[in-house]
Amino acid sequence: MGNCAIVGINWGDEGKGRMVDLLTESFDAVVRYQGGGNAGHTVINEKGKFALHLLPSGIFREGVINILGNGVALDPENLWAEIREVTRAGVAITPANLKISERASLLLPWHRDLDALEEARLADRQYGSTKQGIAPFYSDKYQKKTVLAGELRDPAVLREHLQELLEWKNLILTGVYGAEPYTMEKLDQWVEEYCKPIVPFITDTGRILYDMQKKDRNILFEAQLGALRDLDYGIYPYTTSSNTLAAYAPIGSGLPSLKLTDVVGVVKAYSTCVGEGPFVGEMSGEEADRLREAGAEYGAKTGRPRRVGPLDIVGTRYGVNMQGATKIALTKLDVLSYMKQIPVCTQYRVHGEITDDFPFPTELESAEPVITYLEGWNCDISGIREWRDLPEAARRYVLFIENAIGCPIKYVSVGPERDSIIIR
Ligand code: GDP
Repeated sequence: MGNCAIVGINWGDEGKGRMVDLLTESFDAVVRYQGGGNAGHTVINEKGKFALHLLPSGIFREGVINILGNGVALDPENLWAEIREVTRAGVAITPANLKISERASLLLPWHRDLDALEEARLADRQYGSTKQGIAPFYSDKYQKKTVLAGELRDPAVLREHLQELLEWKNLILTGVYGAEPYTMEKLDQWVEEYCKPIVPFITDTGRILYDMQKKDRNILFEAQLGALRDLDYGIYPYTTSSNTLAAYAPIGSGLPSLKLTDVVGVVKAYSTCVGEGPFVGEMSGEEADRLREAGAEYGAKTGRPRRVGPLDIVGTRYGVNMQGATKIALTKLDVLSYMKQIPVCTQYRVHGEITDDFPFPTELESAEPVITYLEGWNCDISGIREWRDLPEAARRYVLFIENAIGCPIKYVSVGPERDSIIIR
């Protein structure tokens, strides 16, 4: 089993949460290593339906250790709200099953405000931020202008550090944006309400991972968003502000020397994209509405309708390579059951030239999709559990993708429930 990362191959929302929930059974720890409260993983199990933003999806499995690594945007307010929500559903969350890296940087209350202020300033040129403060947070982390989770253990040192940051941040809030300044009272209240309750969970997660690795325990790394949103390798500037690639997992979790045994890349049977930016092959009108409805494609965090399109072989092959995927989980195949003919984007046309390669971000704007149609199956496949029982057209669709992206499709998901899966 070893160490495995479950990552998104495309723009995010591929169904990673459901795959992690399924696969955690075989793992001793589940680790989040990047991102924050800006996207959600939807998990449906016997306890209910949950949109997890920060908590690792292993939180529902007894005996699994859940780790929030140093690479995450640790938002105490969101985290504490999520801990309370999941606890209310009857899931015990204790320092034994949830561990927060002492080296994780804190998303401070003004990061959310700055996100909203900057999007307002950009007006119709905005990036479509979820306004969870993620971009201002990561900017400040790299400017060394935020606080490490471990500092919460020493209230006097913490207060002094916050005071310093407050002075600097108020210059930006008032001077650049003409907004209200923050006060120390506000920060004290934030510490009291949201930071103090999470202190018992804060620890050296690298140490835990090191010990687990020595004992040959199985560790699962859970990514947020997908390869095309990676800060360095995605569709910049319409990326997220962190690294969504599997290669970042060891760095963002506390054990940089760790080697991954497996990378499961999650691909949706069609494409969706939230927010702004180039999205080659985007459907419009009735065709788009029908697919959006069939797949219930609305943002887990914002409720925003997602943009939809056919499966994009060019972007998916690029994502598979960037992630170093060793196997693929293809999700939501059941959603396509209504289509008579299924469109697939097999290549791009850029400035009149056909290409198999994913273009440089600024060239993407001029890319047009080359569409092929595959035969649909037109029957309900959500109850099927064996590969051989899938209609031939459905198998052909899966094999077509597998062949085109050059990576084995090991899992085919035909419904959101834990057991709605075909393992090949
Ligand atoms: P994530 O961020 O990658 O975990 O993606 P989402 O949270 O957006 O998950 C995708 C949505 O699709 C969730 O509502 C899941 O419950 C649902 N889902 C996942 N797999 C399947 C599937 O195979 N079929 C159907 N119909 N729904 C699925």
